[in-house]
Amino acid sequence: MTAKETLKSYFGYDSFREGQENIITSILAGQDALAIMPTGAGKSICYQVPALMLPGITLVISPLISLMQDQVKALNEAGIHAAFINSSLTETQIGTALSRAAQGIYKIIYVAPERLETYGFTDFAGRADISMVTVDEAHCISQWGQDFRPSYLKIVDFIKNLPERPVVSAFTATATEEVKEDILCILNLVNPTVTVTGFDRENLYYSVENVRNKDNFVIDYIEKHPKESGIIYCATRKNVDKLYETLLKRGVPVTRYHAGIDNATRKKNQEDFIYDRAPVIVATNAFGMGIDKSNVRYVIHYNMPQSMENYYQEAGRAGRDGEPSRCILLFSAQDIMINKYLLEKKDFSGLEYEDMELIKQRDLRRLQVMEGYCRTTGCLRNTILNYFGEKTSLPCNNCGNCHRDYQEMDMTADAKQVINCVAETKGRYGLTIVTGTLAGADRARLRELGTVNYRSYGALKGRNEALIRNLISQLIEEGYLYQTEDRYSVLKMGNIAPLKDETTRVMMRFYEEKEPERTNYNKEKPARKKSTDSLTSAGYDLFEELRRLRLEIAREESLPPYIVFNDKTLIDMCVSLPKTPEELLGVSGVGENKLEKYGQRFLDAIASFTEAHPNAVISIQTMADDANGSTNAGTDRPKTTSAKITKSNNGKKADFYLSENDAGQFVYQDLYYISDIKNELNRICTTEGVKKISIGVIWDYLVSQELTYENNTNGVFTKMPTQKGTDYGIILEEKTTAAGLSYKLIKYPPKVQKMIVDSLTGPKAEEN
Ligand code: ADP
Ligand code: ZN
Repeated sequence: MTAKETLKSYFGYDSFREGQENIITSILAGQDALAIMPTGAGKSICYQVPALMLPGITLVISPLISLMQDQVKALNEAGIHAAFINSSLTETQIGTALSRAAQGIYKIIYVAPERLETYGFTDFAGRADISMVTVDEAHCISQWGQDFRPSYLKIVDFIKNLPERPVVSAFTATATEEVKEDILCILNLVNPTVTVTGFDRENLYYSVENVRNKDNFVIDYIEKHPKESGIIYCATRKNVDKLYETLLKRGVPVTRYHAGIDNATRKKNQEDFIYDRAPVIVATNAFGMGIDKSNVRYVIHYNMPQSMENYYQEAGRAGRDGEPSRCILLFSAQDIMINKYLLEKKDFSGLEYEDMELIKQRDLRRLQVMEGYCRTTGCLRNTILNYFGEKTSLPCNNCGNCHRDYQEMDMTADAKQVINCVAETKGRYGLTIVTGTLAGADRARLRELGTVNYRSYGALKGRNEALIRNLISQLIEEGYLYQTEDRYSVLKMGNIAPLKDETTRVMMRFYEEKEPERTNYNKEKPARKKSTDSLTSAGYDLFEELRRLRLEIAREESLPPYIVFNDKTLIDMCVSLPKTPEELLGVSGVGENKLEKYGQRFLDAIASFTEAHPNAVISIQTMADDANGSTNAGTDRPKTTSAKITKSNNGKKADFYLSENDAGQFVYQDLYYISDIKNELNRICTTEGVKKISIGVIWDYLVSQELTYENNTNGVFTKMPTQKGTDYGIILEEKTTAAGLSYKLIKYPPKVQKMIVDSLTGPKAEEN
């Protein structure tokens, strides 16, 4: 059997993903390999397929018990003999497993690193025919990583002491150069093939939300996505417990996980989540490594994580099945403080002073990167990819920032008033008093404290108090103010020196609370669609039916449902409606073993559904086929307008462009804001199936033409015209809102409007 045949027959997949084939070929040729691939990219296949093809046993060293158990379950389901050896087994069980292993019963054996030096295991390894040693989560060997495990260092000696050196393959999702070097050196890989696949997870939609009430946001999100599985990460155990209680009271099927919960309960909670008994879990970052639940539809970070590495990995637990999923980061000023506090509390015992300083600085730098991510107005996906060293050119058009319009306002004058007020309080009062005082509120408490006699009393009269609060949060984040961390937290002066420089500005972002892709001129859904979107409501009923069957089987077999079949496989069944075992084998994710075990039950379920609903249209796919007149059973299916069908069936949309004809329809005006230009462009574009243009794309073009730039003063980004832009007639307009806020906006003259239109008009029209 070739590698590809092995993939199909055991795992049911038709083709390899990026990087997989390369790694497998190299391993089969006897060469060591290091693969750096993001979570969900399909690392396991890279060693499992060669393990099946190599003559002897493959040992997989893996750090976590839950991970091993899951993998072994999944392998057994695929009809592969595999076992694990770790501390969850008794000595007798280990003995039995090893003697079976020695008889060559298992093709793949997962083992915990601590086990490697035990006598029973070395004795077995010394006599067994070991073809490959695979080091999973290989970054655990590096002290640079956040998951350093000293027991990983034992791997090296273990391999050295084997009678014959097997192929060694190592896998990790951690991409930094330091970690990579460590793995290569410490593991002693011999002339390895190093494969690094792209870090872009196209199905993940990243967004950062600046919300005042995080609990409400989370509740609202969960209630709007009731059938979905999600993880909510909190920075502290206390937060986990609080949010968990809140959600429980709202009737959410939720569980929780953190290091303060006893082992047995933790294990049970984790299983409840994996088995979808509690599809929502609130957890600290202790949760997740080795969790390969594939149908996690969203990961919400209730607090800002400590580093981009952490964020990427935790957020990456969403959408491992390749289906569109959301990664939402809830950001607030407090998060920076919580994180700094957690860093201060970090245990450095046993470290040299220099090392400690180095690590502290590194930690702070990482925190700053995260803060930058939360504050950037640029494309979030590109921010992540650039951090991991991938170059990007265009904004992704599939993240919160690419989808959202915002305006930046100059709040410098207001900021100075806030600072004056805090100065007058002499650092004695907290947020509420300062806000009320600035707003000139008529409150007994303020009279009692005497702040009504301050010079700053009413200095921001007419402003919304929520806005003043947000401004204060921002001033805290920017270090101008400081908030004490005790229970009666008060505001004190931070470092206001930068504000003495006249050119320093305090800019605040104001978002239009809409997703431009969803509004506008026709009612289209966002660009990236879920596979379930290809199902009609009848199709969804069938999908639900198959899910019920899957749950039934999962219960019988004590398996997590997604190990039976994942959602994508079920959706594929709905779309292709297989009638025979052969047809079912053609569905992605159906291998021979699963076909034999469960195939008939699924075929029966599909058959009885189609019999009961003879005229039902199951998927838009089939509707489109009908509309196109292709031969397809069930000729008297209702036909809907074909234009709509082809569009929703188009899959990936083309980037925005204008035909010559459309370009001629642009109404030029004296001065346009960038959002006017965007709206006008989207209005005139008549080509079907192209993405809407976003402000981000237009902005990047203007920057590329050196007409505008983003000015960064102390981390405050301000959009400005360049000298060239000013020469072209771009102006910076000062505006005042109804609330009395002043802010600056850029306006663009017809000459620049024309440049933008021309840059988007092209012969691309014929390509698609
Ligand atoms: P990783 O270990 O890299 O995080 P996994 O090995 O758990 O990722 O794979 C993620 C998901 O992708 C699994 O559900 C797996 O079955 C699936 N998968 C892996 N390779 C392929 C492939 N070639 N075609 C389709 N699905 C695949
Ligand atoms: Zn983007």
